[in-house]
Amino acid sequence: MHHFQYKGNELYAEDVAIRDIVAAVGSPAYIYSQATLERHFKAFDEAFASAPHTICYSVKANSNLAVLKTFIKLGGGVDIVSGGELYRALKAGVAPQKVVYSGVGKRDDEIEYALNTGILMFNVESEQELTRISEIATRMGKKAGIAIRVNPDVDPQTHPYITTGLKNAKFGITIERAIEEYKRAMSLPGIEIIGIDCHIGSQLTKVAPFVDSIKKLKNVIANLKEMGISLKHFDLGGGLGIQYNDEEPPLPADYGQSIIAETKDLGLHLIFEPGRNIVGNAGILVAKCLFTKERDEKNFIMIDAGMNDLARPALYGSFHGVKPVVKDQDGMIVADIVGPICESGDFLVKDREVPMFRQGDLMAFMSAGAYGFAMSSSYNSRPRVAEVMVKGDKFEVVRERENVEELIKGEKIPSFL
Ligand SMILES: *Cc1c(COP(=O)(O)O)cnc(C)c1O
Repeated sequence: MHHFQYKGNELYAEDVAIRDIVAAVGSPAYIYSQATLERHFKAFDEAFASAPHTICYSVKANSNLAVLKTFIKLGGGVDIVSGGELYRALKAGVAPQKVVYSGVGKRDDEIEYALNTGILMFNVESEQELTRISEIATRMGKKAGIAIRVNPDVDPQTHPYITTGLKNAKFGITIERAIEEYKRAMSLPGIEIIGIDCHIGSQLTKVAPFVDSIKKLKNVIANLKEMGISLKHFDLGGGLGIQYNDEEPPLPADYGQSIIAETKDLGLHLIFEPGRNIVGNAGILVAKCLFTKERDEKNFIMIDAGMNDLARPALYGSFHGVKPVVKDQDGMIVADIVGPICESGDFLVKDREVPMFRQGDLMAFMSAGAYGFAMSSSYNSRPRVAEVMVKGDKFEVVRERENVEELIKGEKIPSFL
């Protein structure tokens, strides 16, 4: 559930008419509902009320400071995948001891930054990374808390580009190798083993793959115990899906129940890294119809937002519902809704029945809160759009629309030209 609903013919974000927001900040714009963000965070948190846990929100899904602050105020930590994300999270006031650091390609300077910050743990994704973290920590006179990201070889049954827990994926260390690496980690001077981690993919709509991977990791945990390695944290990653169209993902409460049942006798502190599940349906992208053209074979609706603003349809063929901001169109039409980018992949909607938008009509692309603005670029030299947060009857710009000067910031014509 979210707070983007019609009052009469008008689409609202909480108690503010979308039309009023666009009148103030222009189009296109991302609009986030603060009440929805809070509600989704709390639903996830409450699903694990009976187990010791920390929710480390996955910053990459939506890294706006206002979004991060919302979760941090509710007691959340963060899952980061770069030094840039650590910087953002610290700016938003995260407690360093609630930061976990994932990703297959951590640079030396990023590892140093995280060690200086005093994060909870690195989720280690390769043998060489483990060695490197130990070397850097030793040089700095510190111990790095680590978990090994185990790749459980479980099929999450989602889009191949967001499947991460199969053997052929670049992520994590296989179960067999992981046990060897824990053994080696015990003897590394800069390492303190504190946990185990897995993350098998994104937009999962079933609980079974999560449970399967927990079962596999429990075997690893038991093996480690025999070797005298006891852990404190069990990081279960993120990946719980949302409804974009007709998917029926489990509710956080049901997901919670299955996971608690599977993990309660371990006595470990659980860590979750949800991203999409919390922010996905808390944001929309609003855009304006520029032109329409009807052809014998196909109809097109050209809008002022494109694949650079919302990449998911072009990248994964993803579905985003589209709704008129004011419902006054004369019926429906089968059309593609396309952006201004010079690429045929630049569509937000393909061959779908949509309202007969006319020039100037505003429309909302639903479920755009996750991997929306965060994945946007300025391709085609299009300044990135504004982001707005709504709370009740108030709204504020939480990221200004970029301008053309910012587009060329840092560029220069060399002296030899
Ligand atoms: C992307 C990612 C997440 C978040 O995934 P969602 O599907 O958005 O919940 C969590 N952990 C890691 C390691 C990730 O890479």
